[in-house]
Amino acid sequence: MQRIYLDNAATTPLAPAAMEAMQRWNAEVFGNPSSIHHFGQVARAQVEECRDVLAQFLHVSANRLFFTSGATEGNNWILKSLALGWQNEQKHVLISAIEHPSVYQTAQFLKQQGLDVEFVQPDEQGQITVNQIEKHCKPNTAFVSVMFVNNETGIINPITEIGQFCQERQIQFHCDAVQALGKVPFDLSTMPVDFMTFSAHKIHGPKGIGAVYIKEPARLEPFLHGGAQEAGRRAGTENTSGIAGFAATLKWIQTQHSALQTVKALQLRLEQGIQSIKKDVQIIGAQAPRSAFISQIAFPGVNAQNLVMRLDLMGVAASVGSACSSGTVQPSRVLQQMNLDQEVVNSAIRFSFSYFTKIQEIDKTLKILQKLLT
Ligand code: PMP
Repeated sequence: MQRIYLDNAATTPLAPAAMEAMQRWNAEVFGNPSSIHHFGQVARAQVEECRDVLAQFLHVSANRLFFTSGATEGNNWILKSLALGWQNEQKHVLISAIEHPSVYQTAQFLKQQGLDVEFVQPDEQGQITVNQIEKHCKPNTAFVSVMFVNNETGIINPITEIGQFCQERQIQFHCDAVQALGKVPFDLSTMPVDFMTFSAHKIHGPKGIGAVYIKEPARLEPFLHGGAQEAGRRAGTENTSGIAGFAATLKWIQTQHSALQTVKALQLRLEQGIQSIKKDVQIIGAQAPRSAFISQIAFPGVNAQNLVMRLDLMGVAASVGSACSSGTVQPSRVLQQMNLDQEVVNSAIRFSFSYFTKIQEIDKTLKILQKLLT
């Protein structure tokens, strides 16, 4: 059976360019970038070249970018280091209620430690808006965190507007851009954002490597203390082959000029195809700006877990918003925050695409869904 992978919001297959770069680095560039001898200096120069690739991709200067083990580390770094700096101050923090657990659970943890954290709900379209942020703002609000693209729904939040609002009030603004990098065009140099987090494995790069953009690096305490790596901001020997893979995938993505339109067409084809198979399906966030890479669709009357399992048996990998924990199905927090009907929440399935998804795979998926749903 030829399997079809439509769970690219979870992770993506490695781009051949990334694989080649990693193999070459593992074989040839094994030096420790902190060593002063030839081997170390070769590795150091190549790590800096990769940082430049990311800097050019984002249109920001390389000395504001720091490699991390992924976005979970990046998000923990920002939230926890800021909170540590406020230990003797009464600061108020706003976190969107639809954040990835690496932001949401970190914020919950900090709340338990005594930080004044408030969670901001999305509007009925699933978007976090400036109005929602403004409503919850207090004179001592010091920090706001809103993700660029939601990983469950694909809904795009108005990051520039929220950033402007924060900048005017001297509130520090963090944006988790994991599902936006390489998938939604943006120019970070024009965006009023203090912190942005990225991960390579959602865009055909390797797992275990990501990056953080920090507008004013000297103002943020490191999260990992130890050696002087990453300009003294993030200790630990660099994941050099991961960094190479990350840069290689970014370079490759820049050569894929029509990819975003192609993915948009695939998304439309799947959504329209599903709508013609089952008339009462609901595309989550249909009225909001959405990423071309994620479609979350509710199939009223259908159990989402059951459908995902039956799809898997037929060779199609999709995912379900609700997670099973200790034998009970927990409805998706993100969908619940959108105030959707329970029926919609319980029947929602996420299909997510990549630069590698093919039209034939969409058509085969539609044929399988036709069998399963009629
Ligand atoms: N933020 C978002 C929006 C994500 O989708 C993910 C990955 N699921 C992360 C953060 C965590 O990234 P990583 O896997 O690199 O820790």
